[in-house]
Amino acid sequence: MGGGDATVTSEVVLASGNSGKLVEMRELLSPLGFTLRSQSEWDVPEADETGLSFLENALLKARNAARHTGLPAIADDSGLVVPALDGEPGIHSARFSREGTDSANNARLLQEMNAFSGDRRAAHFFCAMVYLRSPRDPAPLVATGAWLGRILMSPRGANGFGYDPLFFVPSEGCASAELPPETKNRLSHRGQAAAALAEALRHEERDGA
Ligand code: IMP
Repeated sequence: MGGGDATVTSEVVLASGNSGKLVEMRELLSPLGFTLRSQSEWDVPEADETGLSFLENALLKARNAARHTGLPAIADDSGLVVPALDGEPGIHSARFSREGTDSANNARLLQEMNAFSGDRRAAHFFCAMVYLRSPRDPAPLVATGAWLGRILMSPRGANGFGYDPLFFVPSEGCASAELPPETKNRLSHRGQAAAALAEALRHEERDGA
């Protein structure tokens, strides 16, 4: 199917090897009439994430998966943005520390935030999610989500992953790692982006637009 072509096909590949993400995305996109398959079912090589933004990297991952599977592809890219740190960890969120583990990344974030208090501790999670009908699709569907909060002085909670223990969610009065998964999925950057992409795909199915 070429770019701009109207219909959503029956099978779509998710450009991620993460089984948790596959389950989450299947749930969010379940009302749509297609099967979401993991790129792990094929020998898809890792995409080079050479973009300078979440959106560019999501497109690179989706294009890589579409090219190697012959299916339309969905990909997302996300991370934590701290304006006081010039947007870092940003696209480097997974490898902010040399070790690249969640605890080392969190330790580095706390250390970098030492100098800041009050409003300067504001942060948001950001997610870019895209749907490519083919590797050369010139008009991908693009959805984004942003989740506003601030960086705590020390970790709280045991749920979630990544920077969740350091991310205070003002509307809930607790850390993201203290939220039940259903609440986090409803509020989060990824939940928002997935809902927006699902809506765009529904339009495409219905109107062929
Ligand atoms: P990915 O693009 O979803 O693989 O996310 C990249 C990195 O951003 C993760 O390794 C985490 O460090 C961070 N991140 C993204 N989403 C979240 C989240 O919902 N909670 C905590 N950390 C996140």
